[in-house]
Amino acid sequence: AFTLTGCSSERGGGTDGGTETAATKGFAADATIGVALPDKTSENWVLAGQLFTDGLEKAGFKADVQYAPASNTVAEQQNQIQAMVTGGAKVIIIGAKDGKQLATQVEDAQAKGVTVIAYDRLIENTEAVDYYVAFDNFKVGELQGNALLDGLEARAGHAAPYNIELFSGSPDDANSKVFFDGAMSVLQPKIDDGTLKVVSGQTEIAQTATEGWKAENAQRRMDSLLTASYGSETLDGVLSPNDTLARAIITSVTGAGKPAPVVTGQDSEVESVKSIMEGVQYSTINKDTTLLVEQSIKMVQQLQKGDKVDVNDTESYDNGVKVVPAYLLDPVIVTKENAAEAYANVPSLLEIVKSYQ
Ligand code: BGC
Repeated sequence: AFTLTGCSSERGGGTDGGTETAATKGFAADATIGVALPDKTSENWVLAGQLFTDGLEKAGFKADVQYAPASNTVAEQQNQIQAMVTGGAKVIIIGAKDGKQLATQVEDAQAKGVTVIAYDRLIENTEAVDYYVAFDNFKVGELQGNALLDGLEARAGHAAPYNIELFSGSPDDANSKVFFDGAMSVLQPKIDDGTLKVVSGQTEIAQTATEGWKAENAQRRMDSLLTASYGSETLDGVLSPNDTLARAIITSVTGAGKPAPVVTGQDSEVESVKSIMEGVQYSTINKDTTLLVEQSIKMVQQLQKGDKVDVNDTESYDNGVKVVPAYLLDPVIVTKENAAEAYANVPSLLEIVKSYQ
């Protein structure tokens, strides 16, 4: 994509042809914009739906915002996307339930001139994804890995080695591997040098996965790990990829009569922010949904005018067949220590933090 000839002499040609065509055309200022969100596995998805409806309508568009239901989710999301195309949407913003199962739908959309934006989760194995807008997922993982190490030093009450367990997200979500790889880029060297000990021995992503991002699945796995590996050993810390799972893990451990370990998280869910302020959950990540939705709507506005679409990353997100041009936002680690600062621009969470101070 970066060859000189490709840039200077083939304007509008080459691999970016589809994108540029869509971008230079523009469309009616009151067009319908489709937003297909997955099921509501965390608060950020619930909030995103509301913010898209309000924000798109405020910008003058008609918003068609749909959630995939909790059952038959993949098929329903496929149908919803198809209906958006049939209904004349000019852009479809997709938070994929299963990023590997939307190729047919997005290819059909693109063939009909619809621009496809992957939101938060990448859509894989198809050329028909024009843009990706997300928080930097690898960095989320790195921040989680570092927080786990910091938390262990601060709270384990003893020197290394520390006993830990690892959890990852749902295998059908492209983010799960990126979060895990980011975290392991920090943790693996510490496992190798003996600072960290994964007592169960389960360090492969397939062994650590949490189907459907469901709390009960994480809780059940933690229950079995405790029974199998922590009869006499102490569990010092757990890498959890998000807040919903972090709380399930803490419930499992404390339910077994053991002290809560150092547990990471993500999403800044209300119950987890409270838990952090109470000194239980160690960390979360602030991925301000308001900013992510705003950035997505900005892309829609640029497409509507036929302007160039802002991206800030053209090399990180290879979906298997193409590197998807992305706009990545910066995630922020949150612990009890920096919570007030981290949520300075999130009034509802700042209020919770202040109520503990
Ligand atoms: C999102 C996370 C979220 C998870 C479960 C991921 O794709 O990036 O923020 O915790 O899905 O909903």
